[in-house]
Amino acid sequence: MIERHSLEAAREKLPVPASPLHLCPNCDYNLTGLVSRRCPECGDSFTLSEARHRAIETSEEVQSFVRATKWDGGRKALGIVLIVASFAVINWVPPGSFVVVRRYVGGFITMAGAMMLWFILISLAIGGILRFYFEVSWSSVLLAIGLFCACGTVIRFL
Ligand SMILES: [Zn+2]
Repeated sequence: MIERHSLEAAREKLPVPASPLHLCPNCDYNLTGLVSRRCPECGDSFTLSEARHRAIETSEEVQSFVRATKWDGGRKALGIVLIVASFAVINWVPPGSFVVVRRYVGGFITMAGAMMLWFILISLAIGGILRFYFEVSWSSVLLAIGLFCACGTVIRFL
């Protein structure tokens, strides 16, 4: 631990190496070759480790991975919201303003809601199997089911 610490301290006295890339954590200025640990562009001080992390964070690979992860999370969230909303509408809103009677089959679940739940569970099972053969992500499966549920819900009330 002490050796590692002194090694790190010695590195801070050497010029910033060209590889791996070091960028200013504040303004992304390329710090290669600098002996001082102060950015000539914005005047902020930095350590090599901070500058290395900054370069990794801003690299195209990491950025595209972050974008892909966000997009994936967005599809998953949208799919879940659509499924839950469709279920809620089917379960609690009676079709047509004339039919107000809702048949509860257990707890808060109505007949229509129970059928919807079966449909969702079967879709998830089929999605899980298809996922295995076609290498699609769970977020795509959830979004597809969510869109299908939403369409079904809209059609039911037309
Ligand atoms: Zn800077």
